[in-house]
Amino acid sequence: MFEKVLIANRGEIALRVQRACKELGIATVAVHSTADADAMHVRLADESVCIGPPAAADSYLNVPAIISAAEITGADAIHPGYGFLSENANFVSIVEEHGITFIGPKAEHIRVMGDKIAAKQTVKKLGIPVVPGSDGAITDASAAAKVADEIGYPVLIKAAAGGGGRGMKVARTRGELDHAVSTARSESKAAFGDDALYMERYLGEPRHIEIQVLGDSHGNAVHLGERDCSLQRRHQKVLEESPSPVITQEERDRIGETCATAIRDLGYLGAGTIEFLYENGEFFFIEMNTRLQVEHPVTEMVTGVDLVREQIRIAAGQPISFKQEDLTMTGHAIECRINAEHPETFTPSPGTITDFHPPGGLGVRIDSAAYSGYKIPPYYDSMIGKLIVYGDDRQECLMRLKRSLREFVVGGVNTTIPLFGKLLEEEDIQTGNYNIHWLEEFLGLK
Ligand code: ADP
Repeated sequence: MFEKVLIANRGEIALRVQRACKELGIATVAVHSTADADAMHVRLADESVCIGPPAAADSYLNVPAIISAAEITGADAIHPGYGFLSENANFVSIVEEHGITFIGPKAEHIRVMGDKIAAKQTVKKLGIPVVPGSDGAITDASAAAKVADEIGYPVLIKAAAGGGGRGMKVARTRGELDHAVSTARSESKAAFGDDALYMERYLGEPRHIEIQVLGDSHGNAVHLGERDCSLQRRHQKVLEESPSPVITQEERDRIGETCATAIRDLGYLGAGTIEFLYENGEFFFIEMNTRLQVEHPVTEMVTGVDLVREQIRIAAGQPISFKQEDLTMTGHAIECRINAEHPETFTPSPGTITDFHPPGGLGVRIDSAAYSGYKIPPYYDSMIGKLIVYGDDRQECLMRLKRSLREFVVGGVNTTIPLFGKLLEEEDIQTGNYNIHWLEEFLGLK
C-alpha cells in the first residue's frame, strides 16, 4: 500500500480523498493556490505545498508544480479527484515517468474516452449499445445532411472533445443543419481548441442513466448499478439518485453485466462511469468518464462500497475487495448539489459564508469543504457542498431530504438550497416522473 498520497485537487473532493487515505493509514499531501491557503483540504492534510497563484491554469493545472510538490514531499501516488487534471492522459504519462503512481485508469484509456468519436467506436466493438449517428466525424454540412437523412431528424451535433454540455447543437430540420454545424464547430474550437464534430439522433424524452464500474489489474471487473442524473440544467447535473425510479432489477443486471464485461475486455483500471440515455426501455451510450464522479456518493450509500478506497487499492495493485455476486443495492439515496448561486437566476454568489450549519442525523451525509467564515474564492466552480441522504426506500429518502434541507443554514451568500425545497413539492419529483428536459421546463427555460 502507498505511504503518502498527493491530492491534486481542492474543495470537497480533496477532503473526500483525504478521508479515504486516512482510513487506510496513508499520509496526505495537499496542494493549493494562494487563494486556497486557508482551505479545509489544506488544514486537514499532513503536509501542504503552495503550487501557484489563484488562476487554475497556474496552480491546479500546473503540471510541473504538482510533480515538484510530489517529489519534494516524497509522495508515491497522486489522486486527481475530478475536473482539473483527472482526465488528462499527458499528465498521467508524466506522473508515471517520474516513478509516481497515478490513481486512475491507464493513459491510453483516458485518451480514447476523451475523444468521443473514438470512445463510441471503441465501446460499440465491446458490445455496448450506442446512440445511432455518424460513424465517425462529420466533415461538412452536406456530409452531415446525408447522415441526418439516414438517421432522421431531429439530430444533435456534438463536439468530439466535448464536456460540460458545450459544443452541442440541435437541428430539427435540414434548414437548421448548416447553422447548427457552424455554431457547434466554432463553440468547440473556442472551448476545446478542437473542432471535430459528430452527429447523433436527438432523443426526445430520455433519462440520463449511468453505470458505475470498477476494473482491477487481476482481470476482474464489476458494476455497482446505476445513478439517475436526469435532473439537469444546461446539460449539467443538479440532483442525482440511486437506484433510478424506473430501472428494473432485470434491466440493471443486463446493462450492468454488459458494462462489466466491456470493462474487463478493455483491461480498464480503477473507477469509471458509462453514461447512457434511456428511452422506451433501451439504453444508448453517450460517453464514458474515466474518473470519480461528483455524484459517486449515492452509489456508496446504497452499496456500502467506499469507491475512493477501491480506487486506491486498485492503483496499489490489489484486487477489487468484493465479487459481483456479493454486491447488493439496499435502500435509496439522493444527492443535491449545493451551489453558491442565486436559486432562480443561477448567478454565482461568491463571498464569505457567515454561518454554516449543515443538517445531520440518521442517513444524512454532507460532503463539503465549507465552514463558518469561509471565503468562497471567485476563481473556481460554485459548488460549496453536496447533501446526500439515504432512506430505506425512496419515500423515506424524500422525507429525510425535505427535513435536511430545512435544517441547512448557509448565511452570507445565495445558495441553491431553496430550489431543492421547491422541487420536492412537485408531484413529478415525488413520483420520479421526469426526464432530461423536466428541470428546464420547470424553470421556464424551455
Ligand atoms: P458532455 O460531455 O458535454 O456532458 P454528454 O454527451 O455527456 O456531453 O451529454 C450531456 C447531456 O446532453 C446528456 O446528459 C443529455 O442531457 C444531453 N444529450 C447528449 N446526447 C444526447 C442525444 N443524442 N439526444 C438527446 N440529448 C442528448
